[in-house]
Parts: sequence; C-alpha cells; structure tokens
Amino acid sequence: MHPKQEKTLVIIKPDGIQRTLIGEIITRYERTGLKLMGLKMVIANEDRVEKHYTIDPEWVRKVGEKSIVSYDNKGIEPPSRDPEELGGHVLRRLKKYITSGPVIAMIWEGNQAVGIVRKITGGTEPLTSDVGTVRGDFTIDSYEIADTDDRPIRNLIHASGTLDEAKKEIALWFKKEEIFDYRLVQEQILYDVNMDGKPE
Ligand code: ATP
Ligand code: MG
Repeated sequence: MHPKQEKTLVIIKPDGIQRTLIGEIITRYERTGLKLMGLKMVIANEDRVEKHYTIDPEWVRKVGEKSIVSYDNKGIEPPSRDPEELGGHVLRRLKKYITSGPVIAMIWEGNQAVGIVRKITGGTEPLTSDVGTVRGDFTIDSYEIADTDDRPIRNLIHASGTLDEAKKEIALWFKKEEIFDYRLVQEQILYDVNMDGKPE
C-alpha cells in the first residue's frame, strides 16, 4: 500500500448530529486534502457499538486508566481506582449514547490519515482538547460533569486510534460496495512526483 492510501474511520456521534455540526465537521477533515471514500447515516445497535469499542481487547482497561490519569492531573479523586471497573462502566454508557440517534460514518484517505484525523479531532475530553480541534472548538464537556450525571463524555466524534483499528473498524461499519475508489484532481498537487503532470 502506498502511504497516500492510508484510511481511517470517523463517526459523527449523535450529539454532533443534534448540534447541527455535520457540515462544519466534514469541512475540517476535507480541507486538509484528505479524500472522502465513503459516507453514510446509520442508527447503530448496541451489538455494533460493543464490537466497535472492543476491537482492541485492551480498550476497556486503557479507557479506565486514561480517565484515572485525567482525574489525578486535576487533583480530583476518580469514582474508582480499578481501570477495568471504570472502563466497563464507560462501555455500558457508550452503548446507550451511540445508539440514541443517527450517526454519520465516514472513511477518509490520505497520507497519515489516522494521525491527521486524530490531530484535527483533538483529545477525548473537550475541556482539555486543544483549541483549533473539533472537540476543543465546538463543545464543552468534561470527565467530571459526565460522571456526576452518569453519562459518557459527549465529544461529537469518534476517530480510529491506530492503523490496525482503522482497518477493523472500517470493515465493521462499511460493506465493500459502499467504499469508493476514485481520483481527486488535487491529488496531482498533493502526491504526484511532477506537479505539471508531464513525464520526466
Ligand atoms: P473515540 O474512540 O470515541 O474516538 P477517544 O479515542 O478519544 O474517543 P476512548 O478512550 O477510546 O477515547 O473513549 C471512547 C469514548 O468513550 C470517548 O470518546 C468518550 O465519549 C467516552 N469516554 C471515555 N472515557 C470516559 C469516561 N471516563 N467517562 C465517560 N465517558 C468516557
Ligand atoms: Mg478511541
């Protein structure tokens, strides 16, 4: 595979749809030069959400650990110090959240697509996501308020974390015939050896 063919999965979660941010969010990814290879609106069931988040068998523990670190950094005591317990609870909440309404699933392709999309999306917690990222610019949630109200963090987007996850997630959300391979005119400027299109 040529590096320009790296693909990643982005999901606009139900809060992103309800906040009427679809166009705004797509623009953020589109304007980088990444190419949209597939897009659809779906209502996911809980089984799909569970499969999605447990593609990485370590995810439950990792999500728990990440939450504990975030609490510790702020000097706040987390609701539990057992990462598996915390992570399992997050998954139960996520199943309700992601299935609560339609989502938009997209495949973006381009050089370092996974990393570029994560950078534009921003960190998990909108309170601490960088300015200029989707999560940092368009919403205001935090671990603390989510826990107080026993719900998941509403952060508008899912974006694949690694190339391996991206491959598995794309296979979970898209059929082969829903993925479109085509050439964009701008690829000549982004990737061709000679920008003028003439052979050496
Ligand atoms: P995503 O996988 O959705 O792109 P992410 O990779 O930044 O987000 P993960 O650690 O994979 O974050 O967590 C998945 C999702 O679970 C988060 O986007 C968020 O909605 C929710 N979440 C994670 N940790 C917590 C928590 N401690 N409390 C509530 N919700 C959480
Ligand atoms: Mg993740």
